[in-house]
Amino acid sequence: MEKRYNSYVGYFKERYGERLQKIVIDAGFSCPNRDGSLGTGGCTYCDNAAFHPAYSSPDKSIKWQIEEGIEFHRRRYRTASRYLAYFQPYSNTHAPLSDLKRLYGEALSHPDVAGIVIGTRPDCVDDEKLDYLAGLSRDKIVIIEYGIESVYDRTLKRINRCHTYGQSVESIRKSTERGLMTGAHFIFGLPGESKEEMLAVAHEVNKLPVHSAKFHQLQIIKGTPMEKEFREHPEDFIQFSLEEYIDFFVDFLELLRPDIYIERFAGEVPPRFIKESPWGSVRNTELLRLLEKRLEERGTRQSARFTL
Ligand code: SF4
Repeated sequence: MEKRYNSYVGYFKERYGERLQKIVIDAGFSCPNRDGSLGTGGCTYCDNAAFHPAYSSPDKSIKWQIEEGIEFHRRRYRTASRYLAYFQPYSNTHAPLSDLKRLYGEALSHPDVAGIVIGTRPDCVDDEKLDYLAGLSRDKIVIIEYGIESVYDRTLKRINRCHTYGQSVESIRKSTERGLMTGAHFIFGLPGESKEEMLAVAHEVNKLPVHSAKFHQLQIIKGTPMEKEFREHPEDFIQFSLEEYIDFFVDFLELLRPDIYIERFAGEVPPRFIKESPWGSVRNTELLRLLEKRLEERGTRQSARFTL
């Protein structure tokens, strides 16, 4: 059955003839919002421990993490034969270029690794690093994913991101100008944003030359400053029920440009990490099934209401 949205998994199958499985690598990076370059407190919602699979740890070499990651995924997805090393936790370009060359080089030298995916902040790249990545992308898959989170500067300030939306726009432009495959990550439900403002994010994303986008509902992690803020000002947060979120995302998809690949539209975090977990512990496959079912019921699809 033809999908009603542009699926990221489908892109790889179509382009490379196979599923490429991401393996999360923790290469021991920090981020400028934690190591004192910009601040020490971090973004108010952040707890990177919430997003680590068990096999990824900076105590292990990159090769070791890849081997364990392959073993982990082989037991689950027997269809994958090649992998993407996903430098995910913290800001994975926040180091001198010589370190990046060594770390990415180690991942790319593994025979089963087809490429790398680099998660980072928009203020952690420069021309030199982007030129280097563009060079690598001539032989290997190289994808850069920027954490943008919100298009509203007042929200970015409130969640202590310590960068502006303008910086995101600029880094995406510089990356795509060099031919890099570029993704963007956003969070829905950040404090102070109305549902209408969240829907209007689609119009901003449409202006960005991104290849893919990833969305998460806000999940409030125990022990973070956001947990405290939520307790003190619950009225500032829109907490979608699962049904409301699926409908909201269908509305959002209708406004989105047709060529943008959707990597993820909602997140699962192990329930032990979640302070407010209105959805229970629903798995990603179930979320995707619910999205497809709702698109079908509403007889709609990505870009159904897209206008230039
Ligand atoms: S969300 Fe990213 S940028 Fe923000 S503190 Fe955490 S690692 Fe740093």
